[in-house]
Amino acid sequence: MKLAKLGDGPEIFHTLQGEGPSAGTPAVFIRASRCNLHCVWCDTDHTWNFQGTPWTHEKDTVPGYAKFRKSDVTFELTHAEAARRILDFRCSRVVITGGEPLLQETDFLAMIRLIRAERPDCVFELETNATRIPSAELAAAVDQFNVSPKLANSGVPEALRLHPAALEFFASSPLAYFKFVVASPTDLAEIQTLRTRFGIPPERTLLMPEGRSSAELDRSAPQIAALCRDLGFRFCDRLHIRLWGDRRGV
Ligand code: SF4
Repeated sequence: MKLAKLGDGPEIFHTLQGEGPSAGTPAVFIRASRCNLHCVWCDTDHTWNFQGTPWTHEKDTVPGYAKFRKSDVTFELTHAEAARRILDFRCSRVVITGGEPLLQETDFLAMIRLIRAERPDCVFELETNATRIPSAELAAAVDQFNVSPKLANSGVPEALRLHPAALEFFASSPLAYFKFVVASPTDLAEIQTLRTRFGIPPERTLLMPEGRSSAELDRSAPQIAALCRDLGFRFCDRLHIRLWGDRRGV
């Protein structure tokens, strides 16, 4: 399987889940390399913004930013090796993130099964951009889907970022929570349109402020919290940003 690289190894690390319904819970994160989208503000661009690709990124104007050499940011290992590394942390929650993990769902399913064989109590969350429907086997193996459909502000054409059948699948699954970043009033209108179109229930809708520092989060958090209160949504903070900023692997 192709994972993001962190230092000399794969991006597998023990931390607290920072977002979503289980925020604050200890978890091992495993980050897939590769994504089928190319959001302009993506904060895991080392999983897809490779040399030779045509995608733009908002950091293109930052001095020193450059597309990544694929071999510098990819770590390949077997699903059994990934399972062993995760088990070594002795943690009962695993968050499979990316990139887009559903691009490698066969490997992740095999990894989940190996971990469960040794740790039946282990809970698995899978984070996805909801452009693919998971197989029935994977859907049965995962305990929680953290679904983040991308809005127009991602810069990705609608035909690529909205997959109606996949969105309907996740909207109808009680295991799926929809997490939306609200950066502007137009985002909320777009979120409401998506909710209506695909039948996303309010109790599984989470709104999250945008920001890569506590100060940035604080700017819009009260307003978004009030929206959640009034619309019956959940408010979602970014605990990892508050604790560790935008550092990787913590
Ligand atoms: S879908 Fe997620 S990982 Fe992929 S480019 Fe967008 S933000 Fe990044």
